[in-house]
Amino acid sequence: MDKVILIKYGELTTKKQNRNFFVNTLYNNIKNKLKNYDVKIKKDISRMYIEFKDEELDDIKDVINHIFGIHMYHIATIVDTNIDTIKEKLLEMMKSEDFKTFKIETKRSDKSFPYRSTEINPMLGSYLLKNIENIKVDVHNPDILVNVEVREYHSYIYTKGYKGCGGYPTGVQNKAMLMLSGGIDSPVAGYLAMKRGIKLDAVYFEAIPHTSIEARNKVIELTKKLSKYTDSINLHIVNFTKIQEEIYKKANPNYCITIMRRMMYRIMEKLAIKNHALAIVNGESVGQVASQTLTSMNVINSVTNMPVIRPVACLDKLEIMEIARKINTYETSILPYEDCCTVFVPKHPVINPKLEDALKMEERIDYEQMINEAVENVYTIKVSDSIDEKFKNLL
Ligand code: ATP
Ligand code: MG
Repeated sequence: MDKVILIKYGELTTKKQNRNFFVNTLYNNIKNKLKNYDVKIKKDISRMYIEFKDEELDDIKDVINHIFGIHMYHIATIVDTNIDTIKEKLLEMMKSEDFKTFKIETKRSDKSFPYRSTEINPMLGSYLLKNIENIKVDVHNPDILVNVEVREYHSYIYTKGYKGCGGYPTGVQNKAMLMLSGGIDSPVAGYLAMKRGIKLDAVYFEAIPHTSIEARNKVIELTKKLSKYTDSINLHIVNFTKIQEEIYKKANPNYCITIMRRMMYRIMEKLAIKNHALAIVNGESVGQVASQTLTSMNVINSVTNMPVIRPVACLDKLEIMEIARKINTYETSILPYEDCCTVFVPKHPVINPKLEDALKMEERIDYEQMINEAVENVYTIKVSDSIDEKFKNLL
């Protein structure tokens, strides 16, 4: 094998004291995601190296493109750490490239190597100039940038780089519970939360028969798409029918959404505690709808002390849609199935609700028991990228 995938870490390099933990978490995540491939993975404090079989490279790249904590990766050629061998291999590589100008950048981490990087660059450069016609060095805007990393036993030569998805490795933070509706915003919120290293469980509130099995399948499909960025996601399905019907019987129509969302938050908090999660994540975006004005958020949020993370709070809808397309959830999100929020939407939801009014209306609803029942009867499925299609309809 004379090639490896050379992985450069993202932001984790700034976290000095946690570095080993970050690198080990990333290593385990990569190992787990590539468990069905014929690979060998090695790590050190600044790089990871994956030996692969050529025929699996495209699939492996697709997996790597979905692993947080990877900043860049390259397909690098390995040579023995010896200046003549490096020269010969580099020449062989560059002979098959189409270019007029080049630049060489060397990094020497093997301090016992007899040449400094400032000496290696001109040695390699002049060797290329001598052996390939009509090329020259351009240090500002070269057609090809050649990287040479000189390490203790092996050195690595590479040109092209691929951008990884950045962020922190999933799992370096604790767990949070994502409120996942079938809309565009919440899958994006989940993706952004995972990008910070958060491990996610997802929660979907449904109100069958007012909402359909198709709506639920859509959420399972979205969870599946999100799970491509992690190993698997537990999706908790909450039966919200009884609570929702009670709210619509007892509360003023314009307060129904406010109270419904307060009930959701109450359930979220209980589910978080039950599942050892430390925060709630959702797709609320400031000003997007009546329940997402700052006044509404205050009244709704006041039922819990748990941190509520809103990754898309300050993004425009167009910006959210752009991310949804990038992470491949958009097409599923726009399928036209009713969500429990949309089924009961009143004509004039209150934009500036008052906490006292919400509390007064809630006094008419005996919600404690219903909430506990909903939490107890939650239906959980472990969703991974390979979840069987048939599984959806069996629920
Ligand atoms: P999205 O915001 O995901 O596009 P939406 O616009 O239908 O869907 P909103 O009414 O804006 O949802 O609700 C704001 C947030 O509340 C959602 O992003 C989601 O996090 C959460 N939420 C709404 N409905 C549900 C539901 N049925 N199950 C779980 N979470 C929900
Ligand atoms: Mg929304």
